[in-house]
Amino acid sequence: MHQVHIDRRQSLIKENMARIGRKLLVMSNKGGVGKSSVAASFAALLSASGQRTGLLDIDIHGPSMARLTGKEGIPPSSDGKFMDPVPVRENLSLISMGSLLGKAGTPVIWRGPMKLNVLRQFLADVRWGDLDWLVIDAPPGTGDEPLSLCQMVPDLAAVVVTTGQEVALLDSVKAVNFLKTIPVKVAGIVENMGAFGCPHCGGQVDLFRSGGGERAAREAGVPFLGTVPFDHELLSSGEKGELYPLAHPDRPAARALSAALERLREAR
Ligand code: ADP
Repeated sequence: MHQVHIDRRQSLIKENMARIGRKLLVMSNKGGVGKSSVAASFAALLSASGQRTGLLDIDIHGPSMARLTGKEGIPPSSDGKFMDPVPVRENLSLISMGSLLGKAGTPVIWRGPMKLNVLRQFLADVRWGDLDWLVIDAPPGTGDEPLSLCQMVPDLAAVVVTTGQEVALLDSVKAVNFLKTIPVKVAGIVENMGAFGCPHCGGQVDLFRSGGGERAAREAGVPFLGTVPFDHELLSSGEKGELYPLAHPDRPAARALSAALERLREAR
């Protein structure tokens, strides 16, 4: 009985995923490097360029996508059998753990099989419809959820987000190696929180010693998609729930996000 249920879900996943052009997993080997911000920004930019885009946040322990997109506390509508993703803006819809979990700050204590079940549900029981892109924000690391996801979703490509310092460099090479063994196509590495111009003195401030992302990409033999500078506006956009690259298109970090996305779109 249980197996029949899982098989049915798996065939629903197949049907759903066949209606989506490109599936992109955004991952990192460590938290706090800006993975969710990059995922939200890519999804926002894609939608603004007319691409029908779904955004799926499967970071069960630290879901931030509902907040980043200004949709905190808004659950997807459901007829008891299927769920409809929450509309964010034209061409962009969202399913986030955050909108299902109720009060922010409540920790989730779920064992592996439960997490897997939710993941399956998000892929099988959501009416994603016909999409050009599905952008998936994975939890940090190379644990169960990203692994299961990679196995469940056909034709997945992944982008690894990192900061520039040495440990992040090693971490991102590890993430790339993880993807290569599954195997999942690695679309490239984005370095985030790179050097930025000081608003007071105009000098360059390099918080995380820029350059690690490019070195990691070279070392791992995957494309380098670019460096996104640190920007305090990105931080406050996240808090306000506005989509940063659409709200501040002329900021250097927004331009860098656009350029990274263009490189990714060109590399097929
Ligand atoms: P992760 O998903 O890797 O845990 P988040 O996207 O949640 O990381 O980002 C962590 C914090 O850093 C957030 O407060 C976010 O607004 C901020 N942040 C991310 N990228 C940048 C950036 N380029 N400049 C400034 N702040 C950033």
